[in-house]
Formats: sequence, structure tokens, C-alpha cells
Amino acid sequence: MSTTDFRNYIDGSFVVADATFDSVDPSTGAPWATMPAATAADVDRAVEAAHRALRSGPWASMTATARGKLLVRLGDLVVANAARLAELETRDTGKIIRETRAQIAYVGDYYRYYGGLADKDEGAFVPIDKADMEVTIRPEPIGVVAAMVPWNSQLFLSAVKLGPALAAGCTVVLKVSEDGPAPLLAFAELVHEAGFPSGTVNILTGFGHDCGHRVTSHPLVARVAFTGGPATARQIVMNTAQNLAYTTLELGGKSPVIVFADADLESAANAVVAGIFAATGQSCVAGSRLLVERSVKDEFLGQLKRKAEAISIGDPQDPATEMGPLATLRQRDRIEKIVAESLAGGGRLVTGGARPQGQTAGFYYAPTIIEVSDQNLACVREELFGPVLSALAFETEAQALSLANDTSFGLASGVFTTNLAKAHRMARGIHAGVVWINTYRAVSPLVPFGGYGQSGLGREGGLDAIRDYTRSKSVWIRTSDDPIPDPFVMR
Ligand code: NAD
Repeated sequence: MSTTDFRNYIDGSFVVADATFDSVDPSTGAPWATMPAATAADVDRAVEAAHRALRSGPWASMTATARGKLLVRLGDLVVANAARLAELETRDTGKIIRETRAQIAYVGDYYRYYGGLADKDEGAFVPIDKADMEVTIRPEPIGVVAAMVPWNSQLFLSAVKLGPALAAGCTVVLKVSEDGPAPLLAFAELVHEAGFPSGTVNILTGFGHDCGHRVTSHPLVARVAFTGGPATARQIVMNTAQNLAYTTLELGGKSPVIVFADADLESAANAVVAGIFAATGQSCVAGSRLLVERSVKDEFLGQLKRKAEAISIGDPQDPATEMGPLATLRQRDRIEKIVAESLAGGGRLVTGGARPQGQTAGFYYAPTIIEVSDQNLACVREELFGPVLSALAFETEAQALSLANDTSFGLASGVFTTNLAKAHRMARGIHAGVVWINTYRAVSPLVPFGGYGQSGLGREGGLDAIRDYTRSKSVWIRTSDDPIPDPFVMR
């Protein structure tokens, strides 16, 4: 894997691009590598190659078992190359090396899980209500998949799309974000080494307005799997009006973390800190809205402040670093603006609210906690995608639930309590795709993941994800030798 020569991977070849752009190291703010900018014509070549591979050639005739073996081999290669991929992801996105190493090593399990599932969907034999008929249901690959991922956790977010799509027999064009594309372009080399036939997986990067638009509206694309922000998702839905592709959307969140007075507060404080400051808050499931029972509010905020101020901020490649920079300058500009507005609007700064002292280069921002008295400020309503936690006190369980659900998002949530019945009541009442009780940020290939409301459409992960990349074909066979009777009566 080269660290400097990044190329798009189209139809089994690493191609030199006509146009390029610089990728910036967020820890220094300086360009560090040149990336290929795919054009609409590159997208067309990739989609056409994927369509050919779907219809004819070795992938089209491969058994599901053989597909599964390729996926398992890819998972093994990801694990074997995790350190190298992690270094690239850290360099290109600023995500700390501790996190990228651990996350990418786990990505291998996603490919292995879907590799194992590839030959388990047996279809169905229908006990049909007609004596002279037999009906079987064949699960077939839905077609060419356009997979789109943002820059955060991109190897992971690609695996939850590529794994089930390839297990189902689809072919894929993966459009990588123009921010931090290096690790997925390097991952293309592992796809090649694993032995996927040409055209089965195409990986390219470029900008949303041409490359992203073309891949999601291309007439040969049958399925779009998108992860990104809600505003882009609306564009994608308009793009898919062209090809009517079946679309799933994994979007943002404003996830509540509810801490009751009966919780183990030390443990809850660690989880809240991890929930919002891990990945510098650039996580779709970031627990960015703390709701804390009033009787323990001051004590709990004191604990959080101490822990936030003790976080070691610095070089993301240093294994001792606990929080790195934001991935882009525009990210930090937006966070600074929303924090300033929220403080001017009445929010009380508990800690942070500025660039960390001593970090003159790079896109750093200190862990920030803002206490609020209602949920109207921008820091409570908008997804910041940064290390900013709002904190609001509640009096009763009913009020906690009502505040938790007072959002247009519904991706994740956390509840901290030692009362089992209360935990179950909250799990039932919260409008979100994930409820973590006395834990936060746990994920697994075995478990479905996705949002309510503005957080998205559809689920990734788990057994059902593979079905989301198939469509069923019903095959009717008449078993009678008698001539077909009266044609004007439906049978
Ligand atoms: P983004 O929506 O700006 O970009 C995502 C991708 O869409 C990029 O590849 C971009 O080039 C492309 N794109 C942009 N405009 C397009 C257009 N008009 N047509 C087609 N493609 C276009 O997202 P981002 O800012 O890079 O990522 C952050 C967002 O992703 C946050 O909202 C975060 O919550 C969300 N996210 C969600 C999950 C999840 O699983 N739910 C996981 C991670 C991130």
C-alpha cells in the first residue's frame, strides 16, 4: 500500500485521474497527499463495469458459498492490514490512532459475518393454495449498488454496505467522501488482492455535485446506500427520482443521554464523556444532549468538567492522545459559530468553548459543555458533529422522556439508572433506533442499526441487512397435465 500514489479503482484497475485535489492533514492544516477527483465520466465507467459484472462473467455465475469465501478473505486482509489502514485514516481525518486501530481491526468481523451469511438465505417454497401449482421464491441480487459514505469511520461505514451487498451477489460502486479518502482508496488494494472479479467492487472519490450526483442518479444503479448528513440526503432522494433506486439513508443525530439520580454516577460520567468526546464528537451516535436529574445535576456536571479538562488533546498519531482535531476547518468554523450563538442566547459555559491552548496549527477545539435551561438553543437543536455537550436538568421520569423525544432526530440514546423497571419503561418510550442502557457506543455486525425521523430510513447490520440487497422472484409452475381451462377465470 503506497502512502502517496492514490488512485481510483475502476473495473479492476487503479486508474490515473485527469483531475486531482489536495487532502489536508487536520492536525497541521497542511496538504499531505494528492487525491484523484473522479468525474461523471469515471462514474459512468465504474457503473457500467459493475453492471457488466452483475450480468455476465465470473461474479454472475459464482456460487453464494464462493462469494462468502471471498468476503471472509477480505475480512482477514483488513485485519492483517489494520495498522496501516489506521495510520492512513488518522492522517487523513485526524481521528486518533487508538480509535482507528481498534475500529478497523473490528471491521474484519463485519466482512466475516456477511461472508458466513452469503449462502444462508434459502429462499422459500410456498405451500400454495392451489392444487395444481408449485411456487418457489428466489432471492436475487437487487442490482448495482451505489454506496456513499462520509469521512468519519469510513472503513466501518463501508463494511456495513459492502458486506451485505456482496453477500447478496450485488456489485458496488463505492463513492468515498472527498474529505479523508485515503484509507478507502488503500482498502481498494485489499479488494483486488482478495480476488473479487473485475467490476464487482469499484471505489472512487470525487465531489458531491458531479461524482456523487452522477452515481446516485445513474440509470443502471438499482440501489443506493447512503450515510451522511440530512441536507445531502434530501439531494440524494431527488437524484434517485431519476433511476427510482431503492434507497436507505443513515443520517445524523442529536442523541439524548439520560442520567437518573439512582445511577452509578462515576460510570455514567465515563460513558457520557466517551459518548460525546470520543472521535472529537464526530460520530453520528454522539451523545450530545445530556439530560440529568436535578438532584444530582451539580455533582454530575462537576464530574464531567473534571474529566473533560483532563482529556489529553494533541497529535492523533500519538497513542497517548485521547482527543484529536476536527476533520475540517469548515467543521470548526461552524462549531465556533453555533457555540458563540448559544452562549449569547443564554447558555452557561461549564468548560471549553475555545480552541485549546497551545494548539496553534490544526483544527482543534476543546471539549465543551454548555448548561442550558430549555431545548431552544442551536447547540441543543442542531447536530454539531463536534465535541460539544449541552446539559439540561429534569425533575421527573415523564419530563426526561418528553425532553429526550423533543427532537426531529432519532438515531441513538443512552439511559443510566439502577432501576430495571425504569430502564425498560425508557427503552419503550424513547423514539430512536438504538437505546443503550448503562452503556454507550456499543456496536456489532449482529445488531441492526438505523434511525427514526430525520436520522434516516432503513437499517444496516444484522441478518436482515442482506435481504435489503435482494429482491424476491416468485416462480410459478403449473403441475397439471390437463389443458388450461376457461381463460376468463383467474386462477
Ligand atoms: P455529507 O452529507 O456532507 O457527505 C456525504 C457524501 O455525500 C460525500 O461523499 C459527498 O461527496 C456526497 N454528496 C454531497 N453532496 C451530494 C449530492 N448533491 N449528491 C450526491 N452526493 C453528494 O456528510 P459529511 O458532512 O461528510 O458527514 C457527516 C454527516 O454524516 C453527519 O450528519 C453524520 O451524523 C452523518 N453520519 C451518519 C452515520 C449513520 O450511520 N447514521 C454515520 C456517520 C456519519
